[in-house]
Amino acid sequence: MPTPTLHVSQHPAVLHKLAVLRDEDTEPKKFREVVRELSWLLGYEALADVSVKPREIVTPMEPMIASELGERIGLIPILRAGLGMVDAMLELMPTAQVWHLGLFRDERTLRPVEYYNKLPDSASVDLCLILDPMLATGGSATAAIEVLKKWGAVRIKLVNLIAAPEGVEAVSSAHPDVEIYCAALDRGLNEKGYIQPGLGDAGDRQFGTGKAE
Ligand code: URA
Repeated sequence: MPTPTLHVSQHPAVLHKLAVLRDEDTEPKKFREVVRELSWLLGYEALADVSVKPREIVTPMEPMIASELGERIGLIPILRAGLGMVDAMLELMPTAQVWHLGLFRDERTLRPVEYYNKLPDSASVDLCLILDPMLATGGSATAAIEVLKKWGAVRIKLVNLIAAPEGVEAVSSAHPDVEIYCAALDRGLNEKGYIQPGLGDAGDRQFGTGKAE
């Protein structure tokens, strides 16, 4: 059954860039560039329903009522792979607050472990965008959503480059109010929790930290 909260981009520019990202021959510099470009395109789609409020301005011709953002946006990159998505989102929403969340995946249990969280006592934004290139088991995403809900966030969206059906199912069943925006919904996970066909380890591919040859 289709997941109503899942938005998989069909934009040709997204599909084209995704092929470059997935290609094992794409070097970290190019990989980072394409992560950034895809993040911008997905962010554009994810932010399409943000509310605006009127703002009086004067053009060189005459006064007019223009629009400005009506919601405070929070960007929550999941360390470390989500870092590469932040700059593009800040280009789109320059006034957004950025709150880093450190979650690593225990390779034995595949469960998320929180190691960095400097969120202030109460929510300071209206809409949170969680940024993580890969939605695999959904463990980190679900943990991040729980942290943000406890913080007081009411509107949360998840922006991923590639999602696995297992991760979408985990997030949408635990948090049916959270919308998921991605560039592709892949086949599934392998026994190590990696997305197939995926792109490998998104952190290693951005930061050049893959296994030495
Ligand atoms: N994290 C990654 O970086 N890649 C995957 O395929 C799954 C989780």
